[in-house]
Amino acid sequence: MKYEISFTKNPSPKAKPDPAGLGFGEVFTDHMFLMDYETGRGWRDARIVPYAPISLDPAAAVLHYAQEMFEGLKTYKAKDGSVRLFRPDMNAKRTNETNDRLCIPRVDETFYVDAIKALVETDRTWVPDRPDTSLYIRPFIIATEAFLGVRPSNRYLFLIILSPVGPYYKEGLSPTRIFVEDEYIRSAQGSTGAAKIGGNYAAGLKSQEKAHALGFTQVLWLDGNERKYVEEIGTSNAFFVIDGAVFTAPLTGTILPGITRDSVIRLLKDWGVPVREERFTIEEVFRAHEEGRLSEAFASGTAAVISPVGALRWTDRNMIINDNRIGDLSRKLYDTLTGIQSGALPDPHNWIVELK
Ligand SMILES: *Cc1c(COP(=O)(O)O)cnc(C)c1O
Repeated sequence: MKYEISFTKNPSPKAKPDPAGLGFGEVFTDHMFLMDYETGRGWRDARIVPYAPISLDPAAAVLHYAQEMFEGLKTYKAKDGSVRLFRPDMNAKRTNETNDRLCIPRVDETFYVDAIKALVETDRTWVPDRPDTSLYIRPFIIATEAFLGVRPSNRYLFLIILSPVGPYYKEGLSPTRIFVEDEYIRSAQGSTGAAKIGGNYAAGLKSQEKAHALGFTQVLWLDGNERKYVEEIGTSNAFFVIDGAVFTAPLTGTILPGITRDSVIRLLKDWGVPVREERFTIEEVFRAHEEGRLSEAFASGTAAVISPVGALRWTDRNMIINDNRIGDLSRKLYDTLTGIQSGALPDPHNWIVELK
């Protein structure tokens, strides 16, 4: 299939924000990518246009039954001025896995990456170059057919928007406080836990609010069937270092298959660190901590890259991990991943895709 992308230049570009004051997902660039789908006609009318509100029929399916998916990745400016994407093919592949789960039509994965590249190229001057800043890319698809019925939509809109973002933690890498959720669940075997869809996040807000009210940064999710096994931390994958081996939940359909998770596992294997992708209980984590065998814990995701865990509460049990300091593996993973992304380190696995 051959796609072309039409281009309408924004006649009134915005002033760029102060790069020192960048937060996360608060400002957007001058252009966006759009493409329509209609049953019988397929994906068509790919276009880059000025960033602006979109209009939707109030009956649009996404507004009622949440047929929506999204992705997140970043692009970085290297010291030599080149603009680099990190493993965008993985986001394209995961998009189609999510689409399959939600009865959204597949997209061409090569074109998906080309569309991201074309939009980033258009707004290239928006890629910030201060250390730890990047341009966050948000591709998403919404069901736009106007009807009130529960069935897959016959019309969709695929959009990509861009947002310059600052370091996730303003004071640099620092340990988080995590609340183990033992009441609500995020996912269960057979549910949509492995799909990146808006509905999963709306359902998790209640727990996040509870954790915040108790003074915690994020929630650790337990499995939906027994509330025993460790699954994820907020919107990131969870890792625990016990007896020198790194434990993380396996991909059995209940957790999101993180691209950072995959990269972390690859790097650990390169370094000869044992990785155990298997089910483990929160009870085992607490026991390992009591016995002095838990050396560090961290979460992985595109937004923060690596986020060390300093404290954990589960019901009335509390633990402080590694004296609330950043562990050696967490630090090394963070430095290596961000080094590869920024071009400061070599890229042995060909994860980087350079623009032109
Ligand atoms: C996006 C996400 C992750 C992390 O995935 P990355 O590809 O590493 O950014 C982990 N868990 C959930 C629930 C997510 O939404």
